Amino acid sequence: MRVVVVIGLAIVLMAVLNAFDVSWVVFAIVASALGGAFAIGLVRFNLKRMHIKRAAEAASDEALDAVWREIESLSDEPPTAAILVRTNGTPHSDASAISIPSDLRGFPWAGWTLHCASEEQLELRKGAAPDGCSGLAGLQLRSLLIPRFKTKSGKFRNAYAPSKYLQRSRLLRGQLAGICERYPEELLGHLLSLTDTFEFDALRQVRISGSPGWAQTAAFRSCPTCGRKAQFVVQIPGELLPSRRRSRPDACYVYSCRHHPTEVELVVQYT
Ligand SMILES: [Zn+2]
Repeated sequence: MRVVVVIGLAIVLMAVLNAFDVSWVVFAIVASALGGAFAIGLVRFNLKRMHIKRAAEAASDEALDAVWREIESLSDEPPTAAILVRTNGTPHSDASAISIPSDLRGFPWAGWTLHCASEEQLELRKGAAPDGCSGLAGLQLRSLLIPRFKTKSGKFRNAYAPSKYLQRSRLLRGQLAGICERYPEELLGHLLSLTDTFEFDALRQVRISGSPGWAQTAAFRSCPTCGRKAQFVVQIPGELLPSRRRSRPDACYVYSCRHHPTEVELVVQYT
């Protein structure tokens, strides 16, 4: 993104200098200054990113658990969606599997497991995974039930953004500061998105039920057996799913049918 902005600025600058008949030497000086500023910004961004990543990796299981419990306690509404979040544990096995929480009332796949051998081999099976845990790409993950908050229209909605949790809990801010004193808010963005940066990104979340974060416009699927509209089950960031494709998709969306719940239909999107 930043590269695009710098190139855009350079093109605009070239046009302006050309219009005023300014020499290429002046252009080169201005372009170098812009490049230098960009490099400094990049170094600062990476130092901050590494600081947050290291703080998260050094956090104890108890400290991370306290953060997740606090977020889940922010609403008394029964949960309808979940995401998978980081733990600092090591996976019990190499297998990639997503345990769908049994607390999701009314969700046909509550308590089931999505086995992810590869992007082409996704299987929805009844019952919890053998170890009861979720693991993807060597990460041991746990589920976080998404709190639901009342909107101005009076309806309850799933809240995914870290800012919505921080607005409602001073305790949460304190817990995060206990893990990373300098950047507590950014730490939450890092912990909620399964990526190495600290910027919260809906595409980098494993989402279960609720609403997917779309890379492009929303896409839907029908059940291959009965033709009814399929239901969104799980969103997986492309980089976490074993794939034979040359370029990894940004996100994969698993759909299934409540009448034929072992059917899997996949939507793959690139940004
Ligand atoms: Zn069906």
